[in-house]
Amino acid sequence: MTHDPHGTLSPATLAVTAGRPPRTQGGPVNAPIVLSSTYVNQGVSAPGELLYTRMDTETWHPFEEALAALEGAPHGVVFGSGMAAVIAAIGHVPEQGVVVAPRHAYQVSLGYLDDLAAKRGVEVRRVDIADTDQVVAALDGAHVLLAESPTNPMLEVADLPAILAAARERGVRSVVDNTFATPLGQRPLDLGADVVVHSVTKYLAGHSDVVLGAAVTRDDELAAGLRAYRTLHGAIPGPMEVWLALRGLRTLHLRVERANANAAELARRLADHRAVAQVRHPSLPGDPGHERAAQLMNGYGAVLGLRPHGGAAAADAVVAAVRLWLPATSLGGVESMLERRRRFATESPTVPEDLLRLSVGVEDVEDLWADLARALDSL
Ligand SMILES: *Cc1c(COP(=O)(O)O)cnc(C)c1O
Repeated sequence: MTHDPHGTLSPATLAVTAGRPPRTQGGPVNAPIVLSSTYVNQGVSAPGELLYTRMDTETWHPFEEALAALEGAPHGVVFGSGMAAVIAAIGHVPEQGVVVAPRHAYQVSLGYLDDLAAKRGVEVRRVDIADTDQVVAALDGAHVLLAESPTNPMLEVADLPAILAAARERGVRSVVDNTFATPLGQRPLDLGADVVVHSVTKYLAGHSDVVLGAAVTRDDELAAGLRAYRTLHGAIPGPMEVWLALRGLRTLHLRVERANANAAELARRLADHRAVAQVRHPSLPGDPGHERAAQLMNGYGAVLGLRPHGGAAAADAVVAAVRLWLPATSLGGVESMLERRRRFATESPTVPEDLLRLSVGVEDVEDLWADLARALDSL
């Protein structure tokens, strides 16, 4: 059942309407949660018939359908976490295979690649994803390109159309982690990606109350492979989590719009604050990613990089001084959060020691600014 067969609805409308049950007199407006580990099923079951919940369950479908509609694809596959989706999408890389990945990216995705290198002899070519020539040169002989744009936590912006076209020409499977931009900010499948993955935990669910992942593709065979991986590895989500994620997705456009506006305003003010050494946000005209993001993205996202004067100790002091912002890892929730990334020994060593990652939420921007400015003034 295609919700938007002619692709005419705007993303905001799809976020609200995709994945609803059929209109029937007395029927529910929202898909129900079905709590059942197995289905009545006898004899040889036909394709598509429900059999056992690790394989498939109707509670996943409305969310899968809605996310696929937003990314402009026929297939959405939900996973138990963003990491499960990332690993399902790149897990086919053979022994001694080659993966091209950003030097700055979600640290656990990079950790998984290190694991592949140690245990399966996979060669991991770490590149500056914003340096198109470097990425293209690294693609020769590769099996997978894993891209993030903007990157976590450095906010580098890739020329996705160029690097995805180069991957396609060389027969390299491209996987884009679209967690930061969301399908409202960019649709990597339109730009040439084979698979899009999400940590649904972040903006899509949006309320910091579920851990969930998803992969989206236009390729029937890749979709079948992702589903088979999920069944074989048991990388499945619970029905409650998927239901909550769909509930969150209904307001994605409103949350993203407000969070992006808040982030751009805070970036502008932070750039003028005397305690601030550097602000990274693609909305700033001087930011290295600005021109590319203006051209390729719809909005600049709601994650900021902030380096105060005074090094890591000053950054830690800001985290300790805020009262409204939450000192916590993660991002993409309605509530604003911040952390110093290098507090984790596993974060890339080229991420500055004093870099704070700010996930800007949907609170009133004046309250967010007052709290942040007070913490910075106290340095
Ligand atoms: C959080 C995150 C992940 C991992 O997702 P989980 O849901 O925590 O497993 C992957 N990629 C990016 C960019 C993330 O921010």
